[in-house]
Amino acid sequence: MIITDTHTHLYSTQFDEDRDEMIQRALDAGVSRFFLPAIDSETHEAMFDLAAQYPENMFLMMGLHPTSVKDNYLEELKQVENYLDTKKFYAIGEIGIDLYWDKTHLKEQQEAFRTQIRWAKERKLPIVIHCREAFDEIFEILEEEKGEGLYGIFHCFSGNLEQAKQAISYNMKLGIGGVVTFKNGKIDKFLGEIPIENIVLETDAPYLAPTPKRGKRNESSYLSFVVDKLVDIYGLSPEEIAEITTKNSKDVFGI
Ligand SMILES: [Zn+2]
Repeated sequence: MIITDTHTHLYSTQFDEDRDEMIQRALDAGVSRFFLPAIDSETHEAMFDLAAQYPENMFLMMGLHPTSVKDNYLEELKQVENYLDTKKFYAIGEIGIDLYWDKTHLKEQQEAFRTQIRWAKERKLPIVIHCREAFDEIFEILEEEKGEGLYGIFHCFSGNLEQAKQAISYNMKLGIGGVVTFKNGKIDKFLGEIPIENIVLETDAPYLAPTPKRGKRNESSYLSFVVDKLVDIYGLSPEEIAEITTKNSKDVFGI
């Protein structure tokens, strides 16, 4: 069984004490493909180091995270662009808009999102979207940019059925993780109406650990709890869930 964690920050300092053991637990649980989203220049080194250590298992993205869009965002974007020109990446991410933490730089966030979407199209890469309290703002830009070259993943999807359908209409798959196991997470109520071909699995580790680990540090081996929940929702076996969602991830990332 091959489970794909399409969004995991395994290079986070929160794993510095036990990273190799943690990765081994994931491998033992069948999670052997890890897609690592970039955040900003402070964590690029750690991300590259980890990928060098596990070249068979780690696949990198490059992009500027919306909460890292600050006054120096043009310099940060320049670095992203340089890396895109010189190294291999499987997506541009994570990019998007986050109005939960801070609304000060909304204009810059919109600008950075648009710019990076265009880079993705030019390079024929998928995008991985981070959206927090910003569905309208994100959809507005996707509406402008939609078309053949636009595709990717709506990471940590947390909207309603209508928003799910709209995201899918822009060639996005829904990244499903710990939230689907939460009592008040809501998406478990309608996910069964979304064909599983539109779904990929993710942890967003070290964040958003699924029930029964909720509140703890998340890690990729916990993806098995998400698989179990999807077994209930779709009435498929764990092996089928793993196989279909891994295939979906291959359709997006091309590997
Ligand atoms: Zn993330």
